[in-house]
Amino acid sequence: MTERRVGLDHRDPMLRPFIEVEAKIIREVVADAKAAGERARAVAAEVAALVQEDAERAAETMSERLSGGRRLPLACSAGCSYCCYSSTVHASAPEILRIGSWLKENRSTEELAALKERAGAVAEEIASLDLTGRARAKIPCPLLDVETGRCTVYDVRPISCRAYHSGSADACKQAHDAGEANPVLPIDPPRFKIAHAHAFGMMTACASEGLDVGPYDLAAALPAVLDAELDERWLAGDKVLPHTRLSEEAAVGYDAVLAELVADLRGGRLDVAEGIARRLDPEARRKDRNRRKRDKRKR
Ligand code: SF4
Ligand code: SF4
Repeated sequence: MTERRVGLDHRDPMLRPFIEVEAKIIREVVADAKAAGERARAVAAEVAALVQEDAERAAETMSERLSGGRRLPLACSAGCSYCCYSSTVHASAPEILRIGSWLKENRSTEELAALKERAGAVAEEIASLDLTGRARAKIPCPLLDVETGRCTVYDVRPISCRAYHSGSADACKQAHDAGEANPVLPIDPPRFKIAHAHAFGMMTACASEGLDVGPYDLAAALPAVLDAELDERWLAGDKVLPHTRLSEEAAVGYDAVLAELVADLRGGRLDVAEGIARRLDPEARRKDRNRRKRDKRKR
């Protein structure tokens, strides 16, 4: 149930360095933020922003390096949104909390009320549907502007959405029209896998710090984050987001993998391949240098 459910082999030697490097970065960020008494909302937002930035950058860099100049040209473009109609975006708790905070800061009271109603209706519709049922129902993500086909939270969208891509919009359209749950699309594997490896690193660090990560169904969890301020309870270690049947099943697989990775992190067994990631990833080296400078200033 584990690897297949989580869609990523956390023991893959190619992915391990990216899990390791992100786990170290986020563990330090969370520990520093807790020690400094930072507001929970800021901590969730920082964790989500950092991992999303790292995931996108590393996926891009590695896709370029591994393709040998023959990268798959992406068909994705603004307004293309066949992939936003399954309402099966699994996202981590900090990413969903960040979306909730962002919406409250950037939307009017009326807009929030309308979104809450739409999200509530979608949450009800998908609650008992499995993957196939959702694909066939073609329910748009409550965060999609169906008129323009654009994501209304593009800047804060979760890693699942950032990593999803295709080399053929026609193939996406066909899959959408046929209500296929797991379409076979032309993809660029490093782009997908490395982004998700960073997500695993972040989830490992959060789980190690006693924080719930999920993942949850974004569409079903949205009403909860729009209804209440949940960040403080999340940072205190509570599970604050609701599961659907599907996300609950997925979480069983994640729990098993994360338990193993947390044990590795605490036991110093996530140091093995980190050096490789740093050689591959100049940005990680820059962060290392900054961290050393910060440490020096503290002394
Ligand atoms: S994954 Fe497919 S549907 Fe989604 S933006 Fe890319 S081409 Fe369009
Ligand atoms: S969050 Fe945005 S990109 Fe992701 S499924 Fe919803 S509308 Fe599409």
